[in-house]
Amino acid sequence: MEKKYKIEDGEHKGEVIVSWIITHACQERCAYCISPNKQKEITSLEEHLAIQNQLIDTGLTKNRYIGGEPLTVPHLAELIKEASLRGVDTRLSTNGIYLTKEKLYEIKDYLNSIAFPFESCNDELNHNIRGTNNHRELVTSRIKMVKYLGDIGVLINTCVHKENLNELEEVGYLLNELGVDHWKLRKFYSSSGRGAVPNRERFDITEEEFNYIVDKLKRLYPNMAIDGRLPSKLATRLMVSPQGELFRMIGSEEENINYGNVLTRKLNVKKIYDRDKCN
Ligand code: SF4
Repeated sequence: MEKKYKIEDGEHKGEVIVSWIITHACQERCAYCISPNKQKEITSLEEHLAIQNQLIDTGLTKNRYIGGEPLTVPHLAELIKEASLRGVDTRLSTNGIYLTKEKLYEIKDYLNSIAFPFESCNDELNHNIRGTNNHRELVTSRIKMVKYLGDIGVLINTCVHKENLNELEEVGYLLNELGVDHWKLRKFYSSSGRGAVPNRERFDITEEEFNYIVDKLKRLYPNMAIDGRLPSKLATRLMVSPQGELFRMIGSEEENINYGNVLTRKLNVKKIYDRDKCN
């Protein structure tokens, strides 16, 4: 039987992919977070469904539910189910805190992949960066649960910064042992976000440092799919904000390219995606 998750090539030919920041709310307070503080957001299922249906009706093929923490949205499971039943490839990016066994049972048949953030096996470091305890233990147990219960791809997103550069070999060893499908490393991005902007000095690294560690990890763990992404990659990604605006993140919030509100402007997502060479 065909697997629900396939490692993607970087070009995403024929796809129309949107990262939907469905909320900026989150239980954590990561010091590198690129989300702004929560403002007034769309909260009703009706409006969320209207946004999603407009995107699907005009060509969306892959929907990434991101945040903030998407599982703080009470009806997220209904949105994922609806998108999947309409043939859309779905991914949930979650910090794992609300991903209980019951929640996973609700969504597992409608998800192609799940992405967790993970930066270090060092509990003290994780606590200092995230402001919460037991992140290593939590994510490890969530990965095992997802692998055990469903045919769902498991991805790990790692923000690479000054404080975890020397921790990543150990992280790679753990992820390899756990059978993670895809490890995505991104260089610390300091242009926007409630955590990232004030912590620029604390975390910034050079492109050379980033490329060096990514190459090294690829050599150490040749059986795991590993990607390194520079912040410039964000600029080609089509996103929807918690207020329903379709946009691309270019630098600071003021610099974003904004296409208007999906609810009121009846935007055609495939036309925009193809015209502006998003991926
Ligand atoms: S980076 Fe941390 S604080 Fe920001 S949304 Fe993700 S889990 Fe929450």
